[in-house]
Amino acid sequence: MNRETSAMLFARAKKLMPGGVSSPVRAFKSVGGDPVFIKKANGSYIWDEDDNRYIDYVGSWGPAILGHCHSEVLGAVVEVAQNGFSFGAPTRNESKLAEKIIEALPAMEMIRFVSSGTEACMSAIRLARGYTKRDYIVKFTGNYHGHGDMLLAKAGSGVATFGLPDSPGVPKGAVEHTLCCPYNDIKAIEELFRKYPEQIAAVILEPIVGNAGFIRPGAEFLPNLRELTTQSGALLIMDEVMTGFRAAWGGVQVNLNIKPDLTTLGKVIGGGMPLAAYGGRSDIMQLIAPSGPVYQAGTLSGNPLATACGLKTLELLQKSGNYQSLANLCKKLMNGFNGLAEKYRIPFISDWEGGMFGFFFCDSPIKRYEDTNNMNIEIFRRFHRGMLDKGFYFAPSAYEAGFVSLAHSMQDIQATIDAADEVFQELADSL
Ligand code: PLP
Repeated sequence: MNRETSAMLFARAKKLMPGGVSSPVRAFKSVGGDPVFIKKANGSYIWDEDDNRYIDYVGSWGPAILGHCHSEVLGAVVEVAQNGFSFGAPTRNESKLAEKIIEALPAMEMIRFVSSGTEACMSAIRLARGYTKRDYIVKFTGNYHGHGDMLLAKAGSGVATFGLPDSPGVPKGAVEHTLCCPYNDIKAIEELFRKYPEQIAAVILEPIVGNAGFIRPGAEFLPNLRELTTQSGALLIMDEVMTGFRAAWGGVQVNLNIKPDLTTLGKVIGGGMPLAAYGGRSDIMQLIAPSGPVYQAGTLSGNPLATACGLKTLELLQKSGNYQSLANLCKKLMNGFNGLAEKYRIPFISDWEGGMFGFFFCDSPIKRYEDTNNMNIEIFRRFHRGMLDKGFYFAPSAYEAGFVSLAHSMQDIQATIDAADEVFQELADSL
């Protein structure tokens, strides 16, 4: 596969931008080789600058749940764009989108729009601290909640990829009140609550971890966490930036019938435009300025193009059967890979929920980030390059979940499994 133009563009970008990219994992550092520069996308496909076509399992890291460039979404965006791109004033569509989201998430009584998942999580933490008048927060190792200073402790995603437990530039004071715990370990959190009585403002978590591969909560983990936080007066914040409207309509909390105090959303609710949100109990949300004293603002928050894109995306997504279709695609893909791993005796485990999936080249269960030490990253790298060269675009990191869209067909999935058959065979031959 010729990728000369991508290579040339990457060389130029590296002189202009750190690592040649606007976000670290895009640089392909953890899989090796140069990143692919994307020219256009449609449905389940993306094309690079050398006109190579790939079946896309990244979907812009989650938002593209209908597939790329859906004609009705495009139409909605073009229509509002003709009336102006941004006003910095309230609009009708903000309330329409708010209603749609609130209708889907019983725990979300009020919502505030922001522009990124990072902002949503930072703001939810500030609000939780303002509400409880406590300082400590608890997060789980390998859970990623964006790059806000106080949350950049033992995060997953690009931070895990590069093996940076914390980042230089984050002052000690910023993480001094961040307590980290292994995922799926309720005893460890109980211990923290004993150690810091009435000092913990909130526990924040991904209800399915998608930033350390794919890690599912144990059956009792979330109910226990709900009970524990309620008893101790701490807020439970579910970060559904990735899982919201992706793993299920609304989010994982809807499927599991657990009501967090606050929820953060992003990715799918903006349909590919910069839009995210936080929301929850109205007595807590009323503390946000201008109703209350907790300050948070944004020039582009609730941007008209983004709200139009998100609203049309959710309207189309709401049709019944869509999440079953997404799950069927993931199931076929993961079962296909499982079969190949068995055939070629390669250690492999996989899982999925709705339209997100994950796999590890590993033969022991992964229940927390610490267990990912057992996976074989070298095999993942070779798998990634092998698939890329055959026209299949998977996330360039072993620590990221994968995504399908409603535009993916069963033929796309079968073609992926057929290509993976050759790649798995090459992997087996080299072991
Ligand atoms: N929270 C989760 C669970 C995420 O997966 C991400 C991004 O991947 C974020 C927060 C941060 O969102 P953003 O990249 O929009 O700032």
